[in-house]
Amino acid sequence: MSTAPAAPSKVAYLDHNATSPLRPSARAAFLEALEAGGNASSVHADGRAARARLERARGQVAGLLDVDPRGVTFTSGATEAASAILHPDLEIAGRPVTCDVLLVSAVEHPCVLSGHRFPTDKVEVIPVDGDGVIDLKALENRLAALAAMGLRPYLSLMAANNETGVLQPVAEAAERVHAVGGVVHCDAVQAAGRVDVTLAGLKADFVTLSAHKLGGPQGAGAVVAHPDSRARVPLMAGGGQERGRRGGTQNVPAMVGFGAAADDAATHLSAEAMRLTGLRRRLETGIVEQLQDAWIAGAGAARLPNTVCAVFPGLKAETLVIALDLAHVRVSAGSACSSGKVGSSHVLAAMGAASGLGPEATAGAIRFSLGWSSGEEDVDLALAALGRAVPRLSSRPARVA
Ligand code: PLP
Repeated sequence: MSTAPAAPSKVAYLDHNATSPLRPSARAAFLEALEAGGNASSVHADGRAARARLERARGQVAGLLDVDPRGVTFTSGATEAASAILHPDLEIAGRPVTCDVLLVSAVEHPCVLSGHRFPTDKVEVIPVDGDGVIDLKALENRLAALAAMGLRPYLSLMAANNETGVLQPVAEAAERVHAVGGVVHCDAVQAAGRVDVTLAGLKADFVTLSAHKLGGPQGAGAVVAHPDSRARVPLMAGGGQERGRRGGTQNVPAMVGFGAAADDAATHLSAEAMRLTGLRRRLETGIVEQLQDAWIAGAGAARLPNTVCAVFPGLKAETLVIALDLAHVRVSAGSACSSGKVGSSHVLAAMGAASGLGPEATAGAIRFSLGWSSGEEDVDLALAALGRAVPRLSSRPARVA
């Protein structure tokens, strides 16, 4: 006699900042382009059809940030996009500009902190406050000192932090940088499609995006800028694709999926932001009410509607992530890096430096990130799992070294 298979347990996927599941619209568009094939540079009918799909996707990504589609350069992701434009020699709206120093906030993603094509000794870090917001006064002071030395700055400031969701005052910082003739890049990977960001609103010269953070396929991204802004030395030269800014045959299905995801996110942006803010509130209230020592990092700042970085004092994030995983709740440690290892978080360390909290105080930081596929049941599953795991792990006797 055969027994019916057990119903799969419900999984609460709360790791949209790591990667957001593929939206159904993006999946359909991706598969259709994959089936159709064609090289977007071929002149025959199949090539022209691929080109038409690619250009439609470019228009959809442009629509998300309200720019001329010619200002969208497709890349393999946001890391490549940052590398393409973090270079001292630039053209800004057709005007050659050479920058001397790259300023980055202390909480940038590692793909920006590396400085890419700037020499390492030309990369400087601007501190943040206890909530993780850039210290505008420190930025102003540094800009004034650089101007006095006749040096031109390039600022790279993210729109929203991937670990805490804290929003940065990009437009205010950009005004200050532009006032001294500098250039501004904004990594809007976590903000785009979640809050209303446009190139003009950010007052940035370059914005970089990643498809998979907004429900598109992995391995697709873009630089968004004025059509005549670029690095004078392309990261990848080659066959002249992407108006000479990025050589190599375009990954048309991935770009088409990116376009569909961008369109979907833009269409539902305000309703989704409201819905996710409600879910975030439900999660945060549940955490601080049921687990009394827990606190929310960056709670004093404006944040993304989808991100909660909760700190559970006395716990190790890695242990809690595993306990939650066993309870079918998928989250990341606040400090998880791309290899999946948990180290100390440079973001929480930078915030701690301003507020006097050492690394031990934030070792139990867990990031919950919601998205288009999240609902109340996911939040409630996470709260129930936390309610079981946190007291159990906290009551463990300390290991003797
Ligand atoms: N910038 C931020 C803020 C991110 O969160 C990430 C990915 O986690 C990246 C850049 C890199 O994106 P990609 O994986 O597309 O290179």
